[in-house]
Amino acid sequence: MTIKIFSMEVIKTIDSVRSMVKAARVKGKKIGLVPTMGALHTGHVSLIEAAVKKCEFVVVSIFVNPTQFRPGEDFEKYPRPLEADLDICKKAGVHVVFVPTSEQMYPGTNLTWINVEKLTEPLCGRARPGHFRGVTTICAKLFNIIAPDIAFFGQKDAQQATIIRRMVADLNMPLEIIVCPTVREPDGLAVSSRNRYLNKQQRQDATHIYKSLMKCQEIVKAGKIDTYEIITEMRKVLQQKSSIEIEYISIVNAETLEVIDMIVGKVLVAVAVKLGPARLIDNILIDTYK
Ligand code: AMP
Repeated sequence: MTIKIFSMEVIKTIDSVRSMVKAARVKGKKIGLVPTMGALHTGHVSLIEAAVKKCEFVVVSIFVNPTQFRPGEDFEKYPRPLEADLDICKKAGVHVVFVPTSEQMYPGTNLTWINVEKLTEPLCGRARPGHFRGVTTICAKLFNIIAPDIAFFGQKDAQQATIIRRMVADLNMPLEIIVCPTVREPDGLAVSSRNRYLNKQQRQDATHIYKSLMKCQEIVKAGKIDTYEIITEMRKVLQQKSSIEIEYISIVNAETLEVIDMIVGKVLVAVAVKLGPARLIDNILIDTYK
């Protein structure tokens, strides 16, 4: 019988995390990175589990990245339950949790930014200009610091995953990106750190986000593919709850994120709403060729 004795390191500085990862790489271990902002939940755990399966050395970064928040967004109130997060990481088999300070990640005025064009403009890019520039810049920094073989992202943030893949391809970054499926609550709501902002009623109303996506799937299965008609039906589902303020319902080509008229091929159906204090997003992928 083998007993697994497991120790997890919590590291705050770039130098230390670099040397820990280097030691693992020298031993021939495959390095996996799961970048997060913390407030970990079952969605994050699914990424960690995928990383543990594929890699012998798994780093989870926890950093609420200020440059991806716009003024007036929830940067200050974003939940930071570090002890609970570390517990989750330990149980999931993480080797290193990298928890840098803002001073470590942005020691001076940042003059260098990564900006992926076009893909950052539609969907969430419209309401959150500059958001994806912050995301790609912090991911590029993390990729440079950790130098993972594989980085794991969630389909929940579909536009983010598409943009990161494109950055990696365009800049010849030497790593693989794996995108894991969206983890949902039993009633369909996509698990999110921001669900904690909802009161009981808002939490119930939030199920209509997934219901609207299921409505789309149902219509497509029935053979209708006109996106204007589908969006109209999806809007009706969301409007059943007056607490829901629709930011967008978009049906786009899953790779280019360009708006399409007909659902043909690989398609991303994405929704963003405001619900009380929370801005929530969700999506499904439809592939008519499958
Ligand atoms: P965040 O901490 O919100 O920046 O998310 C960190 C990573 O977890 C991102 O790649 C997200 O797409 C992913 N993620 C967040 N929620 C979910 C979910 N419900 N299912 C799968 N992945 C998720």
